[in-house]
Amino acid sequence: MNSIKKNFIPVSLFQLFSIGIGPSSSHTVGPMRASHQFVSILQSLGILENVSRVSVELFGSLAMTGHGHATDIAILLGLIGEKPELIDPDTVSAKIENIRKEGALKLLGSHFISFSVAQDLLFLKGKRLPFHSNAMKCKAYNAQGEEIFSKIFYSVGGGFVVDHEEVFSSEKKESEATAEIPYPFHTGAQLLEHCQKTGLSISEIMLANEKTWRSEEEVYEGIWHIWEVMKGCVERGCSQEGILPGGLNVARRAALLHRDLSQKKELEDPSEIFDWVSLYALAVNEENAAGGKVVTAPTNGASGIIPAVLHYYDRFTKNPTKEGIYRFFLTAAAIGILYKEGASLSAAEMGCQGEVGVACSMAAGGLVAALGGTTFQIENAAEIGMEHNLGLTCDPVGGLVQIPCIERNTMGAIKAINAYRLAMNNKTGYRVTLDQVIASMRQTGEDMNSIYKETSEGGLAIHVPVTHPAC
Ligand code: SF4
Repeated sequence: MNSIKKNFIPVSLFQLFSIGIGPSSSHTVGPMRASHQFVSILQSLGILENVSRVSVELFGSLAMTGHGHATDIAILLGLIGEKPELIDPDTVSAKIENIRKEGALKLLGSHFISFSVAQDLLFLKGKRLPFHSNAMKCKAYNAQGEEIFSKIFYSVGGGFVVDHEEVFSSEKKESEATAEIPYPFHTGAQLLEHCQKTGLSISEIMLANEKTWRSEEEVYEGIWHIWEVMKGCVERGCSQEGILPGGLNVARRAALLHRDLSQKKELEDPSEIFDWVSLYALAVNEENAAGGKVVTAPTNGASGIIPAVLHYYDRFTKNPTKEGIYRFFLTAAAIGILYKEGASLSAAEMGCQGEVGVACSMAAGGLVAALGGTTFQIENAAEIGMEHNLGLTCDPVGGLVQIPCIERNTMGAIKAINAYRLAMNNKTGYRVTLDQVIASMRQTGEDMNSIYKETSEGGLAIHVPVTHPAC
């Protein structure tokens, strides 16, 4: 698995933090990108006009929890030409209803074909393709019913998508990608060595790498835009009430908590800071569960942790600065890349360690950087953030990204802040390195029973009764 994985290096911060819609980066954002990519290939090959039918088969975790994760909706949107970063979430229902009612859709918004959601979008439960649990096969047929093109895609976590050919033939791609950046790194040791040799901080190393593709000004503008989207998501989440979709009858609680907290002029008890941090995470993850606009950080399921910790930095620490926020993002991205390289961001491979665990680790390291900690304090905090999430399973009730996901983000955010504090107060050094904890996480994920890897076949998913199951 790992020799292949090296072909998917997320060298840019903007791949880890991408804007999309909920509820899942691997099951919603990734499949939307894949189906969009499929029809774009048909167009680039000049055969789009010859297509009279398209079918999509879903395997593994996509088949098991795809209904609860809106994978079907995402695929339809991708086929009609929508992109996760550009779509207006408020328009989704009408678009999907129209396809279902008409029994037809326009590929890339231009080429009209018949489409039966029941017959052309198949959830092949119990079937898996060998490379990755999140697999989908797209096929195009001509008017005679002959298959004229097909492609297998894998949604490998965090919204990243690779196709089958890329998986098995991109040795060259990796070397090209790494050759371009001034400070390539695959491990924490390599990253720290760059810092030691150059005297640069982790955020400065990341910035230098980012400047391979865009100017410094564009990097900072892009980061600020991501931060603005995160803030907008928190704001919207704090104003929406009611029941989340999917049939579990989970009530939104961020708005009520926000109202309660806002009535107090100042903190009556210092531990109320936890309530605020939880509020920020709840707001984002409720928006995510409702299919709203969120930033993958590094996934949608774990998208509340980094915004919550950033809000903590912005509101509850002394002298927060714009530069601190830039350092936070750049450092968190470097840490996220280490997990993508050394393990995986996919819950279908790693369980929730790969989502909430990684986000907690990224947020802990990012917060240390924002508050002026050293490179070693960053490594220590990031390691602590993962060490106490090792073994975290993924068992979403009803296949929905709601229980345990929403509350779990509050726990991840508070754990990240504690990891920051432990690292900053550490006067005795540390025994466990970031690389060691990443290796432990990978091993734990590989050993984890598949019923705890985003299949909803174990844990809470079978012990919590579901009155109206989504999958
Ligand atoms: S349990 Fe964790 S990994 Fe699984 S869907 Fe929820 S947030 Fe994602």
